[in-house]
Amino acid sequence: MTNKTIDPEQVLQAVDAVQAIIEQASDKLWHLAEVSLEEVKSAEYLLALLQEQGFTIVSTGTAGIPTAFVAEWGTGGAKLGILLEYDALPGLGNEPVSCKQARKDGTTSGHGCGHNLIGSAALGAALALKKVITEKGLSGTIRLYGCASEETEGAKVYMAREKLFDDLDAVLHCHPFEHALIGNVRTNATNSIRVEFLGTSAHAGMTPWLGRSSVHAAELFAHSVNLMREHLEPTARMHYVYESAGLAPNVVPDYAKMWMTIRDIDRTRVVATTEWVRQAAEGAAMATQTKANFILYFGMYDLLPNTPLAQRMQGYLEQVGAPAWTEAEQTFACELQTNLGLEPKGMPTTIVPLQNEPALGGSTDVGDVSWSVPTMGVGMPSVPIGIGMHTWAATATHGMSIGRKAAVGMAKVLAATGMDILTDSEFRQAAKADFERRTAGKPYVSPLPADRKQPFGMPEWMTVDACREMFNGVK
Ligand SMILES: [Zn+2]
Repeated sequence: MTNKTIDPEQVLQAVDAVQAIIEQASDKLWHLAEVSLEEVKSAEYLLALLQEQGFTIVSTGTAGIPTAFVAEWGTGGAKLGILLEYDALPGLGNEPVSCKQARKDGTTSGHGCGHNLIGSAALGAALALKKVITEKGLSGTIRLYGCASEETEGAKVYMAREKLFDDLDAVLHCHPFEHALIGNVRTNATNSIRVEFLGTSAHAGMTPWLGRSSVHAAELFAHSVNLMREHLEPTARMHYVYESAGLAPNVVPDYAKMWMTIRDIDRTRVVATTEWVRQAAEGAAMATQTKANFILYFGMYDLLPNTPLAQRMQGYLEQVGAPAWTEAEQTFACELQTNLGLEPKGMPTTIVPLQNEPALGGSTDVGDVSWSVPTMGVGMPSVPIGIGMHTWAATATHGMSIGRKAAVGMAKVLAATGMDILTDSEFRQAAKADFERRTAGKPYVSPLPADRKQPFGMPEWMTVDACREMFNGVK
């Protein structure tokens, strides 16, 4: 394969040629608004579209995730992976209007994280690349990963465990955001656990000595965890909720359940802290004469940056620019801000300079991809300044022209960078060398326990309207 021969402008024009498909897909996924592991129609829609466009369906129900898939086009040459997401969040359904207004069709979930834009942008980038490759008679393989269930237990981790990314030259991905930027950042590695405490019930007034309280065990466990903090490095994060903590005070509760996330800057620290937390659960059970059932059910790697990919992508982001917002879109954004008590600053219009790998507090299942293959992502603004993701207001902008423009912009940066992966061997080698330098002596070890074949998925209580409260304030 020769080095770079394609004018990026031609690739950007190819995205313009499929703009209508991107916009339709964005709207379709937005209307479906299916939550994690329930994205049946969203996956079917994307697969039908891809098949219609000449892509081969490599697998469905991929890596044990019912709504995940892999599709591919092209033969030989370099191999580029692009990640799609399409799950919505519970309780965030909103009409695409500038005030809080439940959806008329009764759908209570919503694309408050803009995964409808990820699905459509990734799809658009792949179609544009296919068009240019065909027209220019190039070789190359484009593989699309239908990464279901990002909001709970992401499919990417299951896919990484099956080494589905390992034969690629690079993976590109996108996520709408508050600004236009390249994801040259680090996120935390994480483990997700549940601890059940099994006690003995009894009449709390008449014969409490016959009972053993599972809630006491949970309280003691939480106390131990909180004391641990003093002796962990400041990068560690542990957060928990009581999922179940008895039903009535006059019954000694025989069941309690805690849900907890452990985060830190790398897997080694997370694994060590998790083991200590396991000991705290066992200790709490021993002290209260109950039993602890410790379930480690999911984990993720930290996000590994890649300098050559980040630099190349930043160049294309600057070439593409932030979306050109119309006056009507800026007015819409200002109305949303005013309705939320924020300063009406409108939509962002600038590009964030390339970040020097700052550590962010959150986590992403792209982390596991980034430890499998050189990986980089782009973000485009899809929400007004000051309005975070995971809000009803974000659902609103993701269902109208603001979101559609973000999707088209992301598709352009993905396609232009993707074309370089496919045609520029020096660039590919540079990305690979950077990856090998960062991962030397640290092979990817799946955070998933060997016996976990499928995700738990969204807890039932989270799929009902009661959770609306929970997400409304999240920024
Ligand atoms: Zn997201």
